[in-house]
Amino acid sequence: MGAITGSFKGFGVTFSHMFKKVVTTDYPFKPPVSAPRYHGRHILNRHPDGLEKCIGCELCAWACPADAIYVEGADNTDEQRFSPGERYAGTYQINYARCIFCGLCIEACPTRSLTMSNEYELARDNRQDLIFTKEQLLAPLLPGMEQPPHPMRLGDTEKDYYIGALTNPGTSAGAERAPWSETGTVDGSGTTGEPS
Ligand code: SF4
Ligand code: SF4
Repeated sequence: MGAITGSFKGFGVTFSHMFKKVVTTDYPFKPPVSAPRYHGRHILNRHPDGLEKCIGCELCAWACPADAIYVEGADNTDEQRFSPGERYAGTYQINYARCIFCGLCIEACPTRSLTMSNEYELARDNRQDLIFTKEQLLAPLLPGMEQPPHPMRLGDTEKDYYIGALTNPGTSAGAERAPWSETGTVDGSGTTGEPS
């Protein structure tokens, strides 16, 4: 008797779903829009003149509970400058086979170099391609930016440079809008973790 009752309960669940509205997502042609603060693919941001915000300090790597980030710092010189200040990231990698998208790395970053976009299409068919390099993670150059290495364009000293970066109309927020974010954002900013 109990088995029969159980069967009717089970069929009841099936039957009730027959009259519910079908939700069909036309993926990948119309990807669903993620929540504004969704934690997706990382971005390494730039200053308004194109120099990299990352100073190769490795704090993000130390903060990562999944050991997903690998950073090797290198020295800037007057002839070869990639970031304002002494150091830049000579090597920067994020392994998306390990990353759990917790966001602790972006909290640890002292320069707000590292933020997360809404991009979630990160599936790859081999493990090697899941290791994203610095070149893949860097924000694209916007109009007015130069490809590093080049001298600091916003001020000769670090103090002048950072004040210049704050007052320059082309603030770094624009640099954080990656081209791949167009399909995956609600507000078009494509980023989380950065104050607006
Ligand atoms: S989001 Fe979390 S797991 Fe992923 S790289 Fe950052 S700290 Fe590591
Ligand atoms: S992303 Fe931020 S925390 Fe990580 S090495 Fe660069 S500056 Fe340091």
